[in-house]
Amino acid sequence: MDLLKEKILKEGIAVNENILKVDSFLNHQIDTNLMMEIGKNFATYFQAKNIDKVVTIESSGIAPAFTTAHFLGVPLVVFKKQNSSILNQDIWETTVHSFTKNSDYRLTASKKFLKENENILIIDDFLANGEAVLGASRILNAAKCKVQGVGIVIEKSFQPGRCKLENAGFDVYSLARIARLGNGVIEFI
Ligand code: 5GP
Repeated sequence: MDLLKEKILKEGIAVNENILKVDSFLNHQIDTNLMMEIGKNFATYFQAKNIDKVVTIESSGIAPAFTTAHFLGVPLVVFKKQNSSILNQDIWETTVHSFTKNSDYRLTASKKFLKENENILIIDDFLANGEAVLGASRILNAAKCKVQGVGIVIEKSFQPGRCKLENAGFDVYSLARIARLGNGVIEFI
């Protein structure tokens, strides 16, 4: 998606060889026009998959997932991050390792928002090691939902996330694929 790539080149900051900072338009200050275009793009790509619900992981995935759900005309379900285990029979939960924080968190979702056989589209802001999406898919699997696709705003293709998700059988569609990050360097595939 050219508009997104231009924005990344103009405002993205390669913090080091692994982390890209995009807080001026994606996850701190949000460019709402860009989010609308991102939502249209994902909705067009996944249109034929009869999506019932979009799922994302709080908090950075919410903006692109919201516009995607809007253009697909379906609800958005936000999976929550909890620090400690919560004993509650009404929720699904799994443990996920955070790439950016290098620590584990509990990912949870209320059972009432996930119905058996629903077609789900997972949207997230970044794909690094794939742990967030795999965690969400474990919950969706437990709820007997069907993951029909994974939409990623920025994929860091030099990290193993895409490979892991493809091995798990997912259709992964990324709007920008980064081949390399370095001091002042952002290269796309
Ligand atoms: P994964 O689970 O694929 O290892 O990591 C994905 C999650 O980590 C995303 O939801 C995102 O919040 C965060 N993340 C991974 N890499 C980056 C990065 O380079 N920049 C930012 N801002 N977040 C990242």
